[in-house]
Amino acid sequence: MGKPDKIETWQMVEPGKLTRTSIDVPEIGPGEVIVEIAGCGVCHTDIGYFYNGVPTVTMPPLTLGHEISGRVVDGDERLIGKEVIIPAVMPCNSCPICMSGRGNRCLNQAMPGNSLGIYGGFSSHIPVPSVDLCVVEDRRGLPLEHLAVVADAIASPYQAAKRAGIQEGDLVLITGAVGGIGTYMTQIASVLGAREVVAVDRVAEKLERSLHYGATATINTTGKGVKDVREEFRSYCKSKNLPGFGWKFIECTGTKMGQEIGIELLGFVGRMIVVGYGTHKVEYMLSRLMAFDAEIIGTWGCLPKYYPEVLQFVLDGSIKIAPFVELRPMSQIESVFNDAHEARLGKRVVLIPDF
Ligand SMILES: [Zn+2]
Ligand SMILES: [Zn+2]
Repeated sequence: MGKPDKIETWQMVEPGKLTRTSIDVPEIGPGEVIVEIAGCGVCHTDIGYFYNGVPTVTMPPLTLGHEISGRVVDGDERLIGKEVIIPAVMPCNSCPICMSGRGNRCLNQAMPGNSLGIYGGFSSHIPVPSVDLCVVEDRRGLPLEHLAVVADAIASPYQAAKRAGIQEGDLVLITGAVGGIGTYMTQIASVLGAREVVAVDRVAEKLERSLHYGATATINTTGKGVKDVREEFRSYCKSKNLPGFGWKFIECTGTKMGQEIGIELLGFVGRMIVVGYGTHKVEYMLSRLMAFDAEIIGTWGCLPKYYPEVLQFVLDGSIKIAPFVELRPMSQIESVFNDAHEARLGKRVVLIPDF
């Protein structure tokens, strides 16, 4: 415990290149703490920054990683020794966007591994603002490392569920339902009371598994086109006597096909939430939104105020992490990045500092 002498870290010196190095511990001011990192999850956003030339707010060198759990070791007295989850985006809490309740998209936000200076989660320690940290008082035997995924993989779909207004009795379809975000999106939709959670994806065994983690039905898109998926969806609705209107579509893939499925199925008073990220374009007759009185909504990050409630769902066992996460030593970061880039990882990898 106490302030470390140095921060050990894996820095991105330029896109595609990592170096293990030591950096100075900054002087922290009031309202800041140093967190000793227990684990940091590897997110597709990191891979986008590292391989695909997606620019970070802080130019390299910087350390990536924004899905962090750990223990406060210095700074704000009331937090010393506490176990915490660091929200992936920390709003400024004072700008007009924050004032309007949309702080998850605050333009002055601090995001580790992007816009928190050079600091990120693939390190031994990180300096962060303390006001929005999510304190874990009693983790009920769950490993603190596992709780890293709450910071983004669970919180971001929770925000998406809030934007979708998912409530008791809802009809929900999730594209990319067995991926890093989708596995939690599926569980969250179920936890919030959706009566139908249709999981759409391409991996048969994972779709099968999703039926034990929130999904009520599955559609495997392998070898199918958008129209085939539409027909399968329609016949499912018919078989269960479900309406074709009023569905909420949560798009988690960021792929062209995933997005095209969403807009193809979007019907009367429907709502589509875009959670996944991709750079292609899709064509859509916007006037259908008018005719259907439908909506397409984007969502980014998660408001810190939702973290305690989402954490509660994890702690009471309603949202399960263990089947979907794999712990690896941080020294394997290069091979893990490579595997993530090549889509060879079956589970969310959380890297454990081993400097
Ligand atoms: Zn992320
Ligand atoms: Zn703000």
